Amino acid sequence: MATWKCSECGATSEGRCRPKTCKSCGADKEKIVKEEAKSE
Ligand SMILES: [Zn+2]
Repeated sequence: MATWKCSECGATSEGRCRPKTCKSCGADKEKIVKEEAKSE
Protein backbone atom coordinates (compact mmCIF):
# COMPACT_ATOMS: atom_id res chain seq x y z
CA MET A 1 0.00 0.00 0.00
CA ALA A 2 1.28 3.42 -0.92
CA THR A 3 0.21 6.87 0.07
CA TRP A 4 -0.49 9.34 -2.70
CA LYS A 5 -0.42 13.04 -2.09
CA CYS A 6 -1.91 15.77 -4.23
CA SER A 7 0.65 18.52 -4.74
CA GLU A 8 -2.15 20.98 -5.46
CA CYS A 9 -4.25 20.73 -2.32
CA GLY A 10 -2.27 18.34 -0.13
CA ALA A 11 -4.99 15.71 0.09
CA THR A 12 -3.75 12.17 0.59
CA SER A 13 -5.20 8.81 -0.31
CA GLU A 14 -4.00 5.25 0.05
CA GLY A 15 -3.95 2.61 -2.63
CA ARG A 16 -1.76 0.37 -4.71
CA CYS A 17 -2.22 2.48 -7.82
CA ARG A 18 -1.96 6.20 -8.41
CA PRO A 19 -5.42 7.77 -8.42
CA LYS A 20 -6.54 9.12 -11.81
CA THR A 21 -7.53 12.40 -10.27
CA CYS A 22 -7.48 14.02 -6.87
CA LYS A 23 -10.72 13.23 -5.07
CA SER A 24 -10.55 16.52 -3.24
CA CYS A 25 -9.74 19.10 -5.91
CA GLY A 26 -9.87 17.10 -9.14
CA ALA A 27 -6.25 17.78 -10.05
CA ASP A 28 -4.69 15.78 -12.85
CA LYS A 29 -2.88 12.55 -11.91
CA GLU A 30 0.45 14.16 -12.76
CA LYS A 31 -0.08 16.39 -9.75
CA ILE A 32 -0.41 13.38 -7.49
CA VAL A 33 2.89 12.19 -6.11
CA LYS A 34 3.83 9.13 -4.13
CA GLU A 35 4.58 9.79 -0.52
CA GLU A 36 7.04 7.59 1.31
CA ALA A 37 5.50 5.69 4.19
CA LYS A 38 6.90 6.60 7.56
CA SER A 39 7.83 3.73 9.82
CA GLU A 40 7.51 4.75 13.42
ZN1 LIG B 1 -5.99 17.88 -4.79
